[in-house]
Amino acid sequence: MRTDRTFTMLKPDSVEKGNIGPILEKITSAGFKIAALKLTQMTKADAEAFYAVHKARPFFGELVEYMTRGPIVAAVLEKENAVEDFRTLIGATNPAEAAEGTIRKLYAASIGENAVHGSDSDENAEIESQFHFAGREIF
Ligand code: ATP
Ligand code: MG
Repeated sequence: MRTDRTFTMLKPDSVEKGNIGPILEKITSAGFKIAALKLTQMTKADAEAFYAVHKARPFFGELVEYMTRGPIVAAVLEKENAVEDFRTLIGATNPAEAAEGTIRKLYAASIGENAVHGSDSDENAEIESQFHFAGREIF
């Protein structure tokens, strides 16, 4: 399993607010190389499967509604220590608790609408990359 890759989504709120460019700039400036990239929209079934680990949580319905309401940008990112370094770059789940200069501090509105996703392990980075991309779309 590769340990130098992670998976991200710029969530619907980021696309709606015109923040694709600024967020991609933050990501590449931090040393991440783009290995795969596309604008796409998740179906309800996609979002339920992608976030299945949160199925029993009270916010699950709201999360699926949010993640399917418009297009997202999906990307595979490459950098040494990618998973951990990307989680540091995006900041805490709740933007109110996110460190200064992090993507969520800069661009997220709330814990529910928090601008970006970042994989939480190498194993999930691989699973999530394959969920969104065919092999020939990853470089
Ligand atoms: P992500 O998996 O999207 O990178 P995360 O790992 O920081 O986020 P998780 O605990 O995996 O956080 O939660 C997944 C997503 O569910 C969050 O990013 C957010 O959109 C939503 N969420 C989490 N907690 C809450 C909450 N208390 N209320 C509303 N939505 C929430
Ligand atoms: Mg998570």
